[in-house]
Amino acid sequence: MTDQMTQVLKVRNLSKSFGALQASKNISLDLKTGEIHALIGPNGAGKSTLIKQISGELCPDSGEVEVLGQDVSALDRVARAQLGLGRTFQISALAMEFTVLQNTVLGALGARGGVFRFFGNVMRDKALLQQAEHALKRVGLIDDAMRRTADLSHGQRRQLEVAVALTMAPKLFLMDEPMAGLGASGSKALTTFLDELRTEAPILLVEHDMDAVFALADRISVLVYGEVIATGTTDEIRNDPEVRRAYLGE
Ligand code: ADP
Ligand code: MG
Repeated sequence: MTDQMTQVLKVRNLSKSFGALQASKNISLDLKTGEIHALIGPNGAGKSTLIKQISGELCPDSGEVEVLGQDVSALDRVARAQLGLGRTFQISALAMEFTVLQNTVLGALGARGGVFRFFGNVMRDKALLQQAEHALKRVGLIDDAMRRTADLSHGQRRQLEVAVALTMAPKLFLMDEPMAGLGASGSKALTTFLDELRTEAPILLVEHDMDAVFALADRISVLVYGEVIATGTTDEIRNDPEVRRAYLGE
């Protein structure tokens, strides 16, 4: 297998400014088959801004994004999602009054780029329902399928977000702080699930929970003030003096 074939995501020289603030400075990184590549860094370092430029929610000032060997720089986020780029959000995009199953079905429908059909019809679409139920089973939420989303715990909502993203059968994942606000048992369950998921869809994982990062990541990139200051294995990052100084607070 060539190096080209194992790279599912390639980011080259991305830069983005908000007025005088340069939030991304010439960022390059990649994601390989079977891998969890963690992106860490202090608040305001530019992690979410980078994820949004990769997903197509935010247009970079310069640089390129390649997904599965295809340059997607000119494509919008729907087109990128249809190519297999899955995404979970730092802030929830769920409809709170809908049931867990309804949210998941809507996610599956949106992923098809489908026009919004009358809701009753959507809920009778067997293929969509099956896709949704399968995703709920995988994240451990199938017993809660008929509950109102507003009644879920915070941790269960995060599980639901992953289920919604799974309905697209993504070939790779962007995840922005999926562990945020989860208790110890929730983080542990999600860690186990992500560990399994990586072989099917490699993950670019933004995460503050360092236990999860060091347990999961094959490689870690450290972002500080919009700049990648180091990329390496967990051991390399743990022992990098510049990283310890700039981020781990030593
Ligand atoms: P992180 O996710 O690492 O905490 P962000 O990517 O959210 O950081 O933000 C990086 C920097 O860019 C911050 O200083 C933030 O205030 C700024 N920023 C992010 N989005 C915008 C925006 N839409 N307009 C102006 N400034 C922004
Ligand atoms: Mg963020």
